[in-house]
Amino acid sequence: MDWEPVIGLEIHVQLATKSKIFSGASTRYGAEANTQACDVDVGLPGVLPVLNEEAVRMAIKLGLAIDATIARRSVFARKNYFYPDLPKGYQISQYELPIVSRGYVEIQADGEEPKIIGVTRAHLEEDAGKSVHEGFASMSGIDLNRAGTPLLEIVSEPDMRSAKEAIAYMKTIHTLVRYLEISDANMQEGSFRCDANVSVRPKGATAFGTRAELKNLNSFRFVERAINYELQRQIDMLEAGERILQETRLYDANKNETRSMRGKEEANDYRYFPDPDLLPLELDERYIESVRAELPELPRQKKLRFMADYDLSAYDAGVLSSSRELADFYEATVRASGSDPKLCANWVMGDLLGALNKEGKSITESPVSPTMVGALMARIADNTISGKIAKEVFEAMWRSEGDADAIIAAKGLKQVTDTRAIERFIDEVLEENAEQLAQYRSGKEKLFGHFVGQILKKSRGKANPQQVNTLLRKKLKGPSS
Ligand code: ADP
Ligand code: MG
Repeated sequence: MDWEPVIGLEIHVQLATKSKIFSGASTRYGAEANTQACDVDVGLPGVLPVLNEEAVRMAIKLGLAIDATIARRSVFARKNYFYPDLPKGYQISQYELPIVSRGYVEIQADGEEPKIIGVTRAHLEEDAGKSVHEGFASMSGIDLNRAGTPLLEIVSEPDMRSAKEAIAYMKTIHTLVRYLEISDANMQEGSFRCDANVSVRPKGATAFGTRAELKNLNSFRFVERAINYELQRQIDMLEAGERILQETRLYDANKNETRSMRGKEEANDYRYFPDPDLLPLELDERYIESVRAELPELPRQKKLRFMADYDLSAYDAGVLSSSRELADFYEATVRASGSDPKLCANWVMGDLLGALNKEGKSITESPVSPTMVGALMARIADNTISGKIAKEVFEAMWRSEGDADAIIAAKGLKQVTDTRAIERFIDEVLEENAEQLAQYRSGKEKLFGHFVGQILKKSRGKANPQQVNTLLRKKLKGPSS
């Protein structure tokens, strides 16, 4: 039987506010344990939460960016459960009336057509603390610094049909929240976390199968592996005539497997009810429009503009708009070069990203600036150097040997465009290759390329290739010398 995967993701995005969602305590990462949780975050008796407006504006930004409905009235609810890292005994979240609902994003998985993925809702909530097991013998430590950190939980429709699509969706949301500057989305630090809901059904069936919810997926690679492992596990069980249990499963990256954590709780286990300490959040049109006015150019808009303005392919425009920093670098390069945007795209995506990758550096850590890359592009465009020599110049720039013009001068790399000089190279090569020349003249025209190669080599890559071509052709057509 053919099985069809069905996947829905719940993504928790830590919002980049300075203070907590319901208190003035700092959200800074990495502070000493329990130095950043105030009486409100741990829910001491008699304290009252006060909603952080910045978190609300950030949630609205996400909602507007995915064409969702922004609720004119949303409600905070208590989600009751016991856990050592949740001293209040409940988490403040949103349940029946979330701030954002019914949006969508367009994704494009590797080598596939674009596809629309529905976003069911996005709601504001507070994060819990953390249990710490390392460094405690037969005990656990509790660090409440994270308690009360604002989260936006973005829940997708079960619209994805492969692990690849799930990754593409996740990357789309990741890029988006970074564009919007509502989160640093750092996965190592837990600012961007994902739970994957996974089920399978016979191909062609309309009803969904029973799902498992996979937790603890803290990298794109793990999400893909965990989903693929889980899909196969479910298919194997169903083919053996067994039933899938609805449960929460933990992904173990070391063993590359998922294992049962607990049976899935139902919403009514949490005894949700409106938090009596918080008023419903009411937003009017003017307020929402004031947030809209702050939206930057979004990834999709940027991609389309790159295609239109710079004549880039959809693929190139997608890569170059995948982060704001990379897009800015590229556009600054185009401006500095004053020349061919396609040439700039090739170099930024090829040599520059390649060199950065090799050293594990991000675009903001590039040792060469857009101005420097742009100046190099200008020298290719005005035929001072060939593309091949430009690679040598780029490597020298990377090693901080100066800017393009300085390196070209210092190393004597300027392209030879003087017709006489090129003709001398041609004559020498034809002389040294008398035998091949004879073969060429008796019809072996493939040798033309061989001669060009030899001439370029003789000039140490500095002869202008177009000129070499034209002059050589002229010479070979002329009377045999
Ligand atoms: P809960 O709040 O209990 O986790 P939801 O109904 O809010 O459950 O759904 C959570 C996520 O699970 C959503 O992203 C949704 O798309 C996805 N989902 C729901 N049913 C299925 C299913 N049968 N297979 C895969 N994913 C599913
Ligand atoms: Mg869930």
